[in-house]
Amino acid sequence: MHVLPLVLLFIFGACLGSFGSVVISRVPQRKSIGGRSQCPQCRKQIEAYDLLPVLSYAILRGKCRHCGKKISIRYPLLELGSAIAVVFPALLEGYIDPFTISLGIALWLFLLLAVMDGDAKQIPDTVTFPLLFVALGSAVLRGNTAWIAPVIGGGFFFLQWAVSRGRIMGSGDILIGIAMGLLLGTWQHTLIAIGISYIVGAVVVSVLLVRDILSRKDRIAFVPFLFAGTVATFLIGDGLLQFMVP
Ligand SMILES: [Zn+2]
Repeated sequence: MHVLPLVLLFIFGACLGSFGSVVISRVPQRKSIGGRSQCPQCRKQIEAYDLLPVLSYAILRGKCRHCGKKISIRYPLLELGSAIAVVFPALLEGYIDPFTISLGIALWLFLLLAVMDGDAKQIPDTVTFPLLFVALGSAVLRGNTAWIAPVIGGGFFFLQWAVSRGRIMGSGDILIGIAMGLLLGTWQHTLIAIGISYIVGAVVVSVLLVRDILSRKDRIAFVPFLFAGTVATFLIGDGLLQFMVP
């Protein structure tokens, strides 16, 4: 694989990440995603040349050009994370084509939802539905006809949602489950991803409970764990399957 297309894809992902910050800060408040960003401290509009993903943060040394107040490290981290999410499928498959690009964009949307769920404990349909749509597109481009995977993924969360009447799982988690099935392609990989999500979630939540960072009454954001489980399954799912079904 050539380096230049990969670098361009990485830059494209970083730009998506920059746009993602706008989506995360404005969509939950139902604000328009058009218009230039302002510094949250001094409200001055940020110049176009200060909106280069990751680079601007480094050049400005993490401070606003106008008021000198600190810029949150979340912005460059989300830009970097988005860039990695977008190139990840191409690196994994060893080629860049519409399938790996669509898979990367879907992972970027999934990452946004993970951050939004962690922030506000809820995910907006205005991001969940684009994820479903792009995940469906990637499944079609892969030529995947195993439609049982999204049924298993969505059904798993639907059952919990139905039994708990929406107390354990939100309806948004059902859509995420469907998307996971579409992205991962087989029901085996989908179940592995859900399993890893629960194990990682249980470990992290236990640690947070013991350290009193979380109380038993707190609602737990589950999308970050589903995202982690999905990425982990892309990396080690095949190995785990071979190990379990020799
Ligand atoms: Zn400022």
